Amino acid sequence: MAATAFVSGATGFIAQHIVKQLLEKGYNVVGSVRSESKGENLKKNFGSNFSYEIVEDLETVGAFDRALKRHPEVTVFLHTASPVAFQAEDNEKDIILPAINGTVNVLKAIKSSAPQVKKVIITSSVVTQIDGDELNSAASEDTWNSISYERAKQDGRAAYVGSKTFAEKAGIEFVEKEKPNFTVSTVHPVIVFGPQAFDSEAKGELNITNTFISGLLNLKASEGAELPPSDGPFVDVRDVAAAHLIEIEKPSNGLRVLTYSEGFTNQKLLNILNKNFPELDLIKGSPTENLVGGDKIRDAKSREYLGLNYISLEKTVVDTIKQFLEANK
Ligand code: NAP
Repeated sequence: MAATAFVSGATGFIAQHIVKQLLEKGYNVVGSVRSESKGENLKKNFGSNFSYEIVEDLETVGAFDRALKRHPEVTVFLHTASPVAFQAEDNEKDIILPAINGTVNVLKAIKSSAPQVKKVIITSSVVTQIDGDELNSAASEDTWNSISYERAKQDGRAAYVGSKTFAEKAGIEFVEKEKPNFTVSTVHPVIVFGPQAFDSEAKGELNITNTFISGLLNLKASEGAELPPSDGPFVDVRDVAAAHLIEIEKPSNGLRVLTYSEGFTNQKLLNILNKNFPELDLIKGSPTENLVGGDKIRDAKSREYLGLNYISLEKTVVDTIKQFLEANK
């Protein structure tokens, strides 16, 4: 019989690719979503080996118990749901607490209501691996962000960094204290770009991290726009999903799996857009300058562990923007 995986936050940009790849590999998938209409939309795209459970709020105590009790066939749990926002009315309530309490809530539910689950994979982030508390420090599988709770509450970006760091630590503490029947591993993507899992999802606004690319489409040469500076490390969403699938099949070895393809700068993105979409009439910037970004990622262990042939920035940008332009004609 096919194995069944549970994916929390199945509507997400990354989660939809994980679900898609799981289905392609022959898994059945149960996804949690926040509403029936979101669940039905996914079912339409994913087909009959996908079903959904409504979990309106990550923090509702017991919400995942009910969902899991209804699916005794689930043997692996992928926890991707978490607020991905860099500003909020209330940083602690809207960003930090749902991430921490959501993780603990999920782990508690698996322990008490799904003893057959042996493996849990949490989508963490490179932000938890930045050595120190500055965003521009190096990051590796062995380093930790030292952000304090007080600092995290101060602004939206810090809140996101804190939310992921404290949630991962809460997961580790849970395992140490509760000694559950399952292992917990973490996957740590850098900034994720890439096409949506379905063309219909590319209509309107893209998910927040793809706006690094789509935002440049407004820089029309005819309007004399200026290129704002920006850079960072990038990985394609399809590789992030593939890393989750690889992690399911490996024995857990404690590696905090980093996923990273190459660095980007706004100029590098602009050069790719101008080369592949000349009809967009974008500014040129300074095509030979500022092309190095995201060079502080130390991911040698993960690279060897995953053995992925990472998708290049150019292919990702072309696939993402082609789909976006087509969907928004
Ligand atoms: P996304 O598209 O915004 O997906 C987030 C998912 O979490 C959605 O399913 C969303 O549900 C759900 N969610 C958010 N807040 C929730 C809450 N309070 N209660 C219940 N569900 C909630 O973001 P993504 O980029 O795919 O990110 C997925 C995971 O990857 C997150 O854990 C994120 O931290 C991590 N990550 C992302 C990146 C990146 O560059 N994108 C990099 C590193 C790590 P709705 O669809 O209903 O809103």
